[in-house]
Parts: sequence; structure tokens; C-alpha cells
Amino acid sequence: MPGSPQGFGVLQLRGPMFKEELMSAAPRKDAVAMESEVREKIHLEILKRTGAYHANDHVLLPSGHHTSEYIEKTLVTTEPSFTEGLGAVIAKHFAPWPVDVVLSTGPAALILSHCVARAHPSRPVVVYGMKGMASGKRRVTLPVEFQRLIREGTTVLLVEDLVSTGSTLELLIDLVEQMGAQVVGVGCLWRRTSVELNGKPMFSLVSRDFPTYSPEDCPLCRRGVPLNEEFVRRRNQRRPASAQERRGS
Ligand SMILES: [Zn+2]
Repeated sequence: MPGSPQGFGVLQLRGPMFKEELMSAAPRKDAVAMESEVREKIHLEILKRTGAYHANDHVLLPSGHHTSEYIEKTLVTTEPSFTEGLGAVIAKHFAPWPVDVVLSTGPAALILSHCVARAHPSRPVVVYGMKGMASGKRRVTLPVEFQRLIREGTTVLLVEDLVSTGSTLELLIDLVEQMGAQVVGVGCLWRRTSVELNGKPMFSLVSRDFPTYSPEDCPLCRRGVPLNEEFVRRRNQRRPASAQERRGS
């Protein structure tokens, strides 16, 4: 059985630190760091093209804080060819390890997990958990029909779109381990750099935290950059489009 996949992919660089790291690193490391920065840029550019990722902005967050970058989770998987390309990169990273099942939860992660599974040489099956709440606590449930697919000895790759706190992934890991199966690793599009998952190997296409500021301490406010309130306004004012069954029809 091969060893464990290398943790955290290659992408852990933040902009301001990068130049210093590059100057002080050994030549071989330079090449690796450079390659990963280029790759991260490509992935960010792809996310920008979907309209999900906004950079160089001055955004008001629902919390009242300000930031220069923003990602709209719902838009991340709207371009099938991009999602397929990104899924294939994740699959390639985990290709050396046999995977029986790809497991995710949430619509965007499920779309991505399909693309990962499609590109993985083990031809894993795709299953999903359902997110919900029980007695005020978050929980993940696996539909009964999927339960025979995850049992003792099954190798499971978890797929997530955006990882911010890691709490959903922790629940999925619990679920898999309770069933006697083994988590091979976690593949995701975007991971906030502060997240660790008890040593589970994690590979992310983008590994990036963007700082948020309270309005009093915001450097963008100080520079007089106009504040973009669009995302908060959109959340508060626009209701999702919906259709409802008419009575008697
Ligand atoms: Zn500001």
C-alpha cells in the first residue's frame, strides 16, 4: 500500500510573503514555489472567469467587516469545462492512491466531486451526504441507499469546494470512520490557510486567506477606495427566484 499523499498540496503562499520566501529559498525550492504560484494564479483566474472570485475590490461583508477579495460560493461550479479541468487536477494529485468512493456534501461540492471521480484512475463511485441541523447542531447524514458502498476497508476521498472552518469536513471524516472506512485525503478548490484537519492529507488548488478589517482599521477606507456594498445588498434585497405548484393543478 502506498504511503500517504503529501499534505496541503503545494499552495501555501500569500502575496506579501512570497517575494521574501523566494529570495531566501534554495534554487530548487524557488522553482517549486514559482510553479505553485503560477498554478495558483491560473486557478484564481479560472474562478474569476466564472464570476465567483472578486479581487482588488473593497467589499462590505455581511459581518460588517471590509475586505479586498470576495468569493461567491454558488458560482464556483457554473462553468462545466472549468469544473472538469479543476476536478482533473485534484484527481491527478490523488491518482497514486486507490479510491473506492468520492464523498462530498452540498451541491457545488457534488458537481466538483463528479469531475474528480470521472478523472481518477480507480473509477470510484460518487456518493453524497446531506447537511442538516439536529438539536441546534450541524450534522451530516448519509442516505440509506449509499450505506452499503462505504464499509470496512473502503477508501474514501472527500471533496469540498471551499473550506473555511473545516467543520463540514470534520463531520464527513467522523461519518466515514464510524463506518469502518478510511479517508485517503481531502481535495478542494479553495482552502483558507488557517485550516488543518488532524493531519488528513489535504490538497487545494488555491490556498489563501484574505484579511478582513473592521471599518475603523480598514486600510482601503483610509485610502479612500469606494466601498462596494453590492454583495450585502444583494443578500438582503434580492429574493431567490422560485416557482410554486398551483393548487388543483
Ligand atoms: Zn474599508
